[in-house]
Amino acid sequence: MRQQIAAANWKMNLTYQQGEELLDTILAEDITLSTHQRAVFAVPFPYLTMAQLRLAGKKHYAAAAQNCSDKKSGAYTGEVSAEMLKSIHIQYCVLGHSERREYFSEQNDTLAHKTAICLANGITPIFCCGEPLAIREAGIQTGFVETQLKESLFQFSEEEIRKIVIAYEPIWAIGTGKTASAHQAQEMHAHIRATLAAKYSPATANHIPILYGGSVKAGNAAELFALPDVDGGLVGGASLVAADFAQIIRALK
Ligand code: PEP
Repeated sequence: MRQQIAAANWKMNLTYQQGEELLDTILAEDITLSTHQRAVFAVPFPYLTMAQLRLAGKKHYAAAAQNCSDKKSGAYTGEVSAEMLKSIHIQYCVLGHSERREYFSEQNDTLAHKTAICLANGITPIFCCGEPLAIREAGIQTGFVETQLKESLFQFSEEEIRKIVIAYEPIWAIGTGKTASAHQAQEMHAHIRATLAAKYSPATANHIPILYGGSVKAGNAAELFALPDVDGGLVGGASLVAADFAQIIRALK
């Protein structure tokens, strides 16, 4: 079975102490994950080691970075490189979240570099794509997402693309409480998978986890995750509430 992932995105929320308490409360639920399931916590950079220490004894739980630099190393004050993440054994990095695209002007070509640098350092990119409301209303969302994938990912070999996780996050659903309908989510996930199959192969497309993001809650996770092409979720708001995120982890196929 394809890997199924519940990924928490804490964004720029919580103090260190609140983060410790949140993780401890979720871990106290003692949810056992199957070999194809993962619970991933994308926490702020200063909390990575704390999260890793807490998750260390738990099978299939991992900490993730929320971003990394597109530069290898050097005079880039304030940046964090993929090599630095690798040196503390980080396995996942979220890339191209819509907030980074919107507030930090990240473009498809920069994200191609970031993805390449993560892969070169053995870090699994959780590559975010998704359309704004105006594009959805114009009915051109599939082409929009396809362009994001083509411009950032399609320079990779089949072997490389198999190491990537994709997160489809319609921007109009992020933090708005407005979730894509099951039909809208499945339709886009199937389209992303078909696009991957056409570029690479059906086997590779079938191998790549495609997470849904956009107001995933404890109450709707099971319905969304049950969809044939939805392989878990990238979760913002609900990942900050221990009981809710625990329920979201439990909803994995
Ligand atoms: C996100 O941050 O990626 C996200 C989907 O947020 P929310 O779950 O709050 O919509």
